[in-house]
Amino acid sequence: MGGLKLFFVDDERLKKVAALFGEEAVTVVEILEKVDETTDFQIADQTEIRLNTVRKMLYRLYDHSLVALRRSRDEETGWFVFHWRLQPDQLEGFIFNQKRRVLEKLETRLGYEKSHEFYSCQTQGCRPLPFEQAFELLFKCPACNKLMVHVNNSQIVETITRKIEKIKKELSE
Ligand SMILES: [Zn+2]
Repeated sequence: MGGLKLFFVDDERLKKVAALFGEEAVTVVEILEKVDETTDFQIADQTEIRLNTVRKMLYRLYDHSLVALRRSRDEETGWFVFHWRLQPDQLEGFIFNQKRRVLEKLETRLGYEKSHEFYSCQTQGCRPLPFEQAFELLFKCPACNKLMVHVNNSQIVETITRKIEKIKKELSE
């Protein structure tokens, strides 16, 4: 049963997605990939990761439906045992939502870039400021005190626009 399901897991993409949840999440997913179902205790046993961390990672993945949870009761101790399994069919949906979120952020940023004039001290590590802020600071950089000059942000606008187009195309595929 489990073997057939794993057949459809796109390993590379799954690992990339797991990495968004942290390094330990990748290890947890690697273990889950090999089994149909396992408990958090067993995962902690098989890795160097503490049980609490294993659980934290599992719940993060669970929040996004990337893993499913089944609860049973240990008849001897009376405690709950949590069984986890991957839900690789949710991967596409997750990636789609992530892309949508990135797209929204990029569109907001693009609007900001397009509607402002920017000034910069040209010092590495200092942030360009919009005209209104630069004006209030009398064009002195608040970080390094150097004079700020007008900067052309058309390169940034172009880069963001290209990224937006790429994501839009991927989303419509
Ligand atoms: Zn500066």
